Amino acid sequence: MEAFRVLIVDDIKSNLMVMAKCLQGLCEVIKAHNGRDCLELARTHPQPDLILLDVRMPDMDGHAVCKELKASPETESIPVIFVTGNDSEEDEEQGLLLGAIDYITKPIRPVIVRARVSVHMQLKQQRDKLRFMALHDQLTGLFNRYFLTENAEVRLAHFRRHKTPLSVVLMDIDKFKSINDTYGHEMGDLVLMAVAELLENNTRREDVVARLGGEEFVILMECPLDAAMVKVEKLRQQMEQLMPQGLMVTGSFGVVDACAEVMELNPLLKRADECVYQAKDQGRNQVVGWCSKPAALQELNYKGN
Ligand code: GH3
Ligand code: MG
Ligand code: MG
Repeated sequence: MEAFRVLIVDDIKSNLMVMAKCLQGLCEVIKAHNGRDCLELARTHPQPDLILLDVRMPDMDGHAVCKELKASPETESIPVIFVTGNDSEEDEEQGLLLGAIDYITKPIRPVIVRARVSVHMQLKQQRDKLRFMALHDQLTGLFNRYFLTENAEVRLAHFRRHKTPLSVVLMDIDKFKSINDTYGHEMGDLVLMAVAELLENNTRREDVVARLGGEEFVILMECPLDAAMVKVEKLRQQMEQLMPQGLMVTGSFGVVDACAEVMELNPLLKRADECVYQAKDQGRNQVVGWCSKPAALQELNYKGN
């Protein structure tokens, strides 16, 4: 897991040192001496996970810095805790109204600082975990349908704009029900995990591999249809040779060209599903492609034995 990064901001050097000492061993600390540097560091990757922000600073005070942080989509989600000697209620209120999540008063009490930062570390870990769970399939660890629908539209729009080729692959494991029926659901799960691993390990990092549900998987491949067909035929063969749990497991693949027309994910998946259906109909364990010029595809379709 990546280290939790806390950006501490104070115009007085000794304050920065005291704070850094408080946080020693708890998290990674980066320092800024003024508001401008704070804004700069907040935009620099890896971004801080939390900002401890002094209110009283010359030039640009903490409130002004917070306002800017919250106004930019790039930095708005970084939690801010104000640190100030001024513990008047109005000051606290103003800080919170500006979007700060918490307030620490000077003089610095190390136990309090550590405790507050710890709470926000835990919250972030929980947030990250929830986010991971929301976007991944629990059994295989692949992206899930939700991620795919959220991510695919953004990608498709990007690809359309830049005219980058993209192919959508749908794969359905053949006769999977009989694996469950013959060897039990747990064996079925192990097979799904092995197939998922094979797909993930044999595609490029920029390709998205997702479990659509059941024994259906989707791959968004950043390449034109002819290259995708070659790649998918290789995957088909690899699957045939995988023998997860000692069982012969094959898949039927549908591959469609996303750049042939301006299209969205659902119509693309529907078309890929038609290809899969055709592959099943023709005897399973094969790859069927689709593009706007079907004649060009004749010699591209692949059949296992
Ligand atoms: P075809 O070759 O036509 O695709 O036949 P099939 O048996 O693979 O297709 P069918 O749709 O009839 O069966 C899919 C099976 O997948 C039925 C369902 O119980 C099983 N399945 C779906 N999700 C899971 C899962 O998470 N774990 C396990 N073990 N089985 C699952
Ligand atoms: Mg199915
Ligand atoms: Mg199936």
